[in-house]
Amino acid sequence: MHLTFDTNLVIKYKSQPQKIRVLTENWVRNEIFCPNCGNVVSEYKNNKPVGDFYCSNCFEDYELKSKKDSIGRKIVDGSYKTMLERLQSETNPNFFFLNYDLKNYEVINFLVIPKHFFTSEIIIPRKKGIPNRPHYIMCSIDLIGIPESGKIFYIKNRQKRRKKEILNDWQKTLFLRESGKT
Ligand SMILES: [Zn+2]
Repeated sequence: MHLTFDTNLVIKYKSQPQKIRVLTENWVRNEIFCPNCGNVVSEYKNNKPVGDFYCSNCFEDYELKSKKDSIGRKIVDGSYKTMLERLQSETNPNFFFLNYDLKNYEVINFLVIPKHFFTSEIIIPRKKGIPNRPHYIMCSIDLIGIPESGKIFYIKNRQKRRKKEILNDWQKTLFLRESGKT
């Protein structure tokens, strides 16, 4: 597993958010395996609402969130209403969370949060709407509210973990999904 992004891919891009999206998505596609079965993950084309990546072997869906510098306490997400609706639905994805160092274009942390750890209690509405759309409420995912067993690291502080350990950690959480509670 390589920890650096392939910056050759973004020479043509000017916009920083676009660069980051290309670099992080490419990295996940090349380096990350499905924590449920160990297969490679594939990328959905054209912004599927169910997620960014999927496993063609076991059909788990994954949404990628990324953040620079440090993991912090919260992940900023999209619409609060949409997020709550997704939690109720069958198609709620698991979350990949990538934390990177922009100076060296390097991954600091990468983890997966299984979907059964997402409950309405950890989805926090943000106070301010966005300009021109005051009623559109965004949300954050409160990482502090997720137990340690729900944060399965592939890379922690630039240290890679073994595939066997990651698959094992994932399997240990599955009883929560089956019992339908978190
Ligand atoms: Zn799989």
